Amino acid sequence: MAEVGGSPPRRRTRAIRVGRILLGGGHPVAVQSMAATRTRDVAATLAQLRLLAAAGADIVRVAVDSAQDVAALAEIGPQAGVPLSVDLQENYQLVVRVAPHVQKVRYNPGHLHHHERHRSAADKVAFIAAAAAEHDCAVRIGVNCGSVDPSVRARFAPSDRVGPMLASALEHCELLDRLGFSRYCVSLKDSDPRLVVEANRRFARQRPDVPLHLGVTEAGMPPEGIFRTRSALEPLLAAGLGDTLRVSLTVPAAEKGQEVAVGRQILADVAAGRFLSEPCPPAGGLTIVSCPSCSRVENEAFVELAQRVRAATAYARRHPLTIAVMGCRVNGPGETDDADLGLWCGPAHVHLKRGRKALGQFSYDEIVPRLLRELDEIIASR
Ligand code: SF4
Repeated sequence: MAEVGGSPPRRRTRAIRVGRILLGGGHPVAVQSMAATRTRDVAATLAQLRLLAAAGADIVRVAVDSAQDVAALAEIGPQAGVPLSVDLQENYQLVVRVAPHVQKVRYNPGHLHHHERHRSAADKVAFIAAAAAEHDCAVRIGVNCGSVDPSVRARFAPSDRVGPMLASALEHCELLDRLGFSRYCVSLKDSDPRLVVEANRRFARQRPDVPLHLGVTEAGMPPEGIFRTRSALEPLLAAGLGDTLRVSLTVPAAEKGQEVAVGRQILADVAAGRFLSEPCPPAGGLTIVSCPSCSRVENEAFVELAQRVRAATAYARRHPLTIAVMGCRVNGPGETDDADLGLWCGPAHVHLKRGRKALGQFSYDEIVPRLLRELDEIIASR
């Protein structure tokens, strides 16, 4: 293991370059964050990038959803002052338009099937790798438990949440390896810290060479979101795993620097041997997971909504249930699938579902009382 200053000792993965930052190879763990502003709003996004860079972010991710966002990215890229990563989301072909302006692209293997279903995943990955290579970009294979490729998930028992993530990540590493593209890292994220630990440990055993991006998805609001993130990252970092990390917190855009500060604090604490007393949050009790928001968030009231849900459901904290609160209609339906109650934001309404059953959409004023009705029914039925 390599000793590096300010960072716990790392297992030696291969080094990949993201602009001026080196990930892996024993280099200090890079701390990332994501802009929560609308990318098409160039001034707001540049201000957000400055805020995150000032907080110590090594790399910042932005989302791109429209032609306006792509045009804005061309303006933002040269002024960013920090290496940028962009999320391809459901449109892998976007890579040719965004790669010229950023240093890293992230694709989710579970989103490749959305477009051009006749084309193989291998072809689509080759397309992404070619554009990344041409424009000097690194790639992240970003596997997320809530959106694993359905054809991979179908090979596993429904209760197995780690197996499909792991298989998908390993298969996509092989696709890139066969193309001779080695400038990639991998993330395996879940909202359950225990599954994040298991998935990353198992992946590292099989691919010790590949740099790992660590994170707990939809960790939620501070302080619970920090606690959940620490409980996954501490054991992994202490074991030398992880070359870059992101702490995802549901906080307003103006407070996003907190994600970076918490990431740096976790690294310093692990390096100094300071850990949470429990390796993972105790099982049982009400869990509220919520996304960190990004440029896709559909109503600025999202963070406040998550806070209202937490306050209003405090009476049920001893019940082993999960409520998921998401910021947009694109990822909301899928990312709430494993929750007992799921909410996701539209511009004027909040969608609600119970388990996998959609219950309709409600105004921002109506949603919390309606949620509590469903919560009470679930509690009474158990
Ligand atoms: S759920 Fe939507 S708003 Fe929230 S982080 Fe994901 S893409 Fe962004």
